Amino acid sequence: MYDYVVVGAGSAGCVLASRLSQDPDVTVCLIEAGPADTAENIHIPVGFGKLFRTHLDWDYDTHEEPSLGRRRIYLPRGRVLGGTSSTNTMVYVRGNRIDFDEWNQPGWSYGQLLPYFMRSEDNERGESPYHAIGGPLAVSDGRSNNPMCSAFVEAAAQAGYPLNDDFNGATQDGFGYFQLTQREGRRCSTAAAFLRPALDRPNLTVETNIQVHRVLIEHGRAVAVTGYRLDQAMTISASREVILCAGAYNSPQLLMLSGIGPAGLLTALGIPVVLDQPHVGQNLQDHALVPLVFTHSHPISLLAANQPQHVQRFIEESRGPLTANGPEAGGFVRTSGGLPAPDVEFLAAPVMFADSGLGTPTHHAISFGPSMLTPRSRGSVLLASDDPTAKPKISHNYFADETDLDSAVEATRIGLHLARQKALARYNEGQFQPPASESDRDLRGYVRSYVHSIFHPAGTCAMGTVVDAELQVLGVEALRVVDASVMPTLVRGNPNAATIAIAEKAADVISGSAPLQWQVAAVAR
Ligand SMILES: Cc1cc2nc3c(=O)[nH]c(=O)nc-3n(C[C@H](O)[C@H](O)[C@H](O)COP(=O)(O)OP(=O)(O)OC[C@H]3O[C@@H](n4cnc5c(N)ncnc54)[C@H](O)[C@@H]3O)c2cc1C
Repeated sequence: MYDYVVVGAGSAGCVLASRLSQDPDVTVCLIEAGPADTAENIHIPVGFGKLFRTHLDWDYDTHEEPSLGRRRIYLPRGRVLGGTSSTNTMVYVRGNRIDFDEWNQPGWSYGQLLPYFMRSEDNERGESPYHAIGGPLAVSDGRSNNPMCSAFVEAAAQAGYPLNDDFNGATQDGFGYFQLTQREGRRCSTAAAFLRPALDRPNLTVETNIQVHRVLIEHGRAVAVTGYRLDQAMTISASREVILCAGAYNSPQLLMLSGIGPAGLLTALGIPVVLDQPHVGQNLQDHALVPLVFTHSHPISLLAANQPQHVQRFIEESRGPLTANGPEAGGFVRTSGGLPAPDVEFLAAPVMFADSGLGTPTHHAISFGPSMLTPRSRGSVLLASDDPTAKPKISHNYFADETDLDSAVEATRIGLHLARQKALARYNEGQFQPPASESDRDLRGYVRSYVHSIFHPAGTCAMGTVVDAELQVLGVEALRVVDASVMPTLVRGNPNAATIAIAEKAADVISGSAPLQWQVAAVAR
């Protein structure tokens, strides 16, 4: 019996368990389906792709996507301490300030969330109105410094785009280098940042290799979870709350397995209905990425990262290609003038990134696709079976809304325009799998054939429909969801930082602390 049972030690779960257990008078049990984060490819940044489709990955795919020629799209998720923060590409982008304001949820405006971004942060560049030092999460400049990424930023300037040295500062628009969740060239997951320093606390228990199967609800109140470690069943009770931090695919799956979801589906699968909640698993959003890959003959891409001199440099200086996170540089642009904020993020990686990152690079290359930030299309996560170990049925419905396709075509044109700039000539000897032409018809066909996920699912237990603004599941007591699934709309950017900030704020809400205040008056809009 613990006060709080937290399910899922991912980006959010590690933060929450660490913050809640700062109070020595409460007991916290953090339960993770995967193992400890000992694999080298977690900590050596360039290794992230080698974790795909391994035992550290939930290894999901969408069902056949109707607007993508019935292709199934690969959806990796970390199944290990640190969750997807142990397997992601470490880009630290918070989102655009209007994202949080548009959520329109009490307590969640940009001004109210900024203190929580900053409480986490230990920024290598020091303090500023937007950044802080001394927090657990290291935010650093990249140490790979690949010349192809510099050429990409220069090309953007040549094409007339502004440069931006801080995508989390006064404005998001423009091109530049990403800051990364790394410390000294190593990945700084939430397990490394928040959990490891808390492991000695007697009031914090961390259980790995237990997959939770359902939440037990008695008289409308969550009282325990049941799960399995191999074939050993176990029940872990919570006297105060059960908190689901299992991510945008698995939190709604767990709610449905526990009888909270669309009654028709649950009944058809033989799951007793606790609460008919048609919104659980709906509103699924993601950023789709259109890959643009340009090949050349210069042996400087990440294909050459494991050469002895680079290994030596990594060991001695914690620098060089082994610290590469993938997208080192990028930029935020608007595909049309009337938009209130960027709708496209470019991500430039010094490697051939094809087939969702599953394809083995065959050439030296630079990849810089547009990621579509404000999709109108919505998908869903539903149970495929009452078996908790079965994969859920995930349908993203990418481009179900035709206007999403129009924006992707425009963004692809911008990418092709960047590729023609002088600065990139050296690294653009040919395009891998190019579109037949730049006509609307050919680009629409290209996007449908090659687009893939950039792995940012959110929205499936959204604030306002499934949980309230304190992240409590509506209609059930002592049950919350705290992870990327509670975002009503996906942020314009990479969602790890926002997920961490959500967990930071949730910790204060749960423990009854007064909301953090910050001097935001001076922050320019
Ligand atoms: C390849 C890749 C690259 C990415 N790159 C970036 C990036 O550069 N920057 C960025 O900001 N974002 C990036 N993201 C996205 C970002 O990492 C996620 O949005 C974020 O980690 C989501 O956090 P979460 O807490 O919602 O879920 P997760 O971090 O996925 O945590 C969920 C945890 O719950 C556990 N769990 C699930 N079900 C159960 C169960 N039944 N029982 C017990 N435990 C369970 C999981 O194993 C996992 O540890 C990337 C994602 C991927 C896959």
